[in-house]
Amino acid sequence: MKKDENKHARNKLILKILGSLFALGGLALAVVGFWSFFGAMNNEEIPDLFWCCFVGFPLLVVGLWLLMLGFRRELAQYAKNESAPVFNQAAQQIKPGIEAISSAVNQGMQAKCACPACGEENESEAKYCKNCGAPLKKICPNCGDETAADAKFCDHCGKKL
Ligand SMILES: [Zn+2]
Ligand SMILES: [Zn+2]
Repeated sequence: MKKDENKHARNKLILKILGSLFALGGLALAVVGFWSFFGAMNNEEIPDLFWCCFVGFPLLVVGLWLLMLGFRRELAQYAKNESAPVFNQAAQQIKPGIEAISSAVNQGMQAKCACPACGEENESEAKYCKNCGAPLKKICPNCGDETAADAKFCDHCGKKL
């Protein structure tokens, strides 16, 4: 077991070193490529080092990927030990605020619908006016969908109502 873990650690180290090299090399190449590209654009020349971008970016991606593999355990541990309790605590503290905001947003989203007969504002899902009892919803004869009573066209199929 011990030997395996050593080997594992060494593999991780190789991943980290290779990842850093690839990422840094890729970044450098990408920067050189861009620098050449924009330099050439300004001087109206052909960007002779633009190919560096094409080599640099995949290299950078591979490097970051290797780094991620190398640091996966650390990242997982960090996520488990460090950020989770902090995050939970923060979540507990901001939860009432978020709930207040989301309920406000919900209420805002539930557009009130005005009664076509008396103008009373009713909840959007209300079927009859709470003030005068007039129907607030109309059933489309074409598709059977429910639309507002004052709708001129079905908002589902577009039929004139
Ligand atoms: Zn009404
Ligand atoms: Zn319809």
